[in-house]
Order: sequence, then structure tokens, then C-alpha cells
Amino acid sequence: MSKFSLIDSHCHLDFKVFDDDRADVLARARENNITDIIIPGVSTQNWPDIQMLCDRNKNLHPCYGLHPYWANQHNENDLEKLKQQVVTNRCVAIGECGLDYRPEQTDKKIQLHFFETQLDIALENNLPVVIHSVRATEDIIKQLRARPGLRGMVHSYSGSYEQAMQLIETGFLISLGGAITYERAHKLHHLAGQLPLSSLLIETDAPDQPDASHKSERNEPAYLVEIFDVLCKLRKEEKEEIAQQTSLNAKALFNIN
Ligand SMILES: [Zn+2]
Repeated sequence: MSKFSLIDSHCHLDFKVFDDDRADVLARARENNITDIIIPGVSTQNWPDIQMLCDRNKNLHPCYGLHPYWANQHNENDLEKLKQQVVTNRCVAIGECGLDYRPEQTDKKIQLHFFETQLDIALENNLPVVIHSVRATEDIIKQLRARPGLRGMVHSYSGSYEQAMQLIETGFLISLGGAITYERAHKLHHLAGQLPLSSLLIETDAPDQPDASHKSERNEPAYLVEIFDVLCKLRKEEKEEIAQQTSLNAKALFNIN
């Protein structure tokens, strides 16, 4: 058990793979001092589950959005629903939204449309955005620079150090996940050690992206401790300070206390 309080800044606790033992998963998170969990929304179908989960537990915080990986399954009406959802229900951010340029993704234009509209909804409602970026950091930066005043985080960051600094200058936070626990992730190790602590968040992205010690298992928020430990080895600050500051960063961004 970790003596440091931590916040899991990105975890899909609503996903069906947790249906059989969600209470146990949450209990293990609590035992490991994970005080709060941010739950991003990926499509209109999962918003009601997130809403229900977060209504029952004040340490779970909902976000609503349309994920770029499933851009072909979203429609214009979903964007209208999102506008409604964020004014009628408590939420801490818009997302997860973004751009995903994996080779199997052939719908860049559609992705961009949903991404831009969600950024505008966030601005209109003075909410931060949770951004998913796979091989798309340049285009993400371009969109953020066009919208001064917009705040948010790039989850499971995988770009370069230089791009991370550009995102930070635009007012965004960089969220690090299981990928930093793998021995060969030299580029990520470098940036995890060098980026300003005031701009860092930590996350599991559970049930996906397990850390090295839980490779090919279902990921869960309690494993955030592994990511935290690796981050501490990469940085010069004391563990206490890293725990406090990353939690403070999450609380400030998502306006939770
Ligand atoms: Zn996610």
C-alpha cells in the first residue's frame, strides 16, 4: 500500500470489463490511496453509465465526449446531445476527444470535425478538454493554438519533448501512463524526468495500457502506484512532492477538491 495520495486522471471505469467486480476494483484503489478517478466518456451510449457511477460516488468525476477512434459511429445529433449533456449534468471536462492517426483510421476529416466541435463546446462552457492523440500531436497543437484560453490535458502522452513543451505553453497538461514503466521507453523517460512538475498528471487508462508489471492483464486504478513509482525514479523531487503536485494539478484542472 502506498502512503501517498494519488489521482488517476484517466480511467474507463464504466467499461463492461469491470461490471463483475467494480466494487472490488474501487476498494483496491482506495487501499492504495487513489483518492479520485476521472472517467472520460467515449460515446453517447456510455454516458448514462458514467453519470450513474459518478452520482453514487463523489470521488469519481465524469467527462462527456466522443472518442476519435469511433468517429464513424458518431453523428451530428451526438454533438447536439453533448451540448445538452454538459449543461444539464455535472461534469469536470469535455472528452475524451481528439485525433487518432493509426493506419486503420481512414476518416481524418470526420475526426477533425468532431474534434473541432468538441473544443468549441468546451470553450463555450468554460470546461477543460481531455485529449486523445495518436500520431497526431502536430494537428492537435494547431487546433489548440487557434483557441486561446482553452485548457485541458493530453492523456497517455506519446509525442516528443518539444511538442510537450508547446502543449504546456498553450496551457495544457501532460498526462503520463503505463507506457513510462517499460524499460525501452527512453523518449518517454526523458520527458517524464524533464517536463515541469506543475504540468504533469498521472493516469492508468484502465482497462487498457497496463504497466510493465501487469503486462497483458486487465489494467485497474490501483496500479497507478506502479506508474507513480517509476515517475519518482525519473525525477529529482521527493516522492511526497510529486504526489502532492500531480494531485494538485488534477484538482485545479478539473476543479475538484
Ligand atoms: Zn481513454
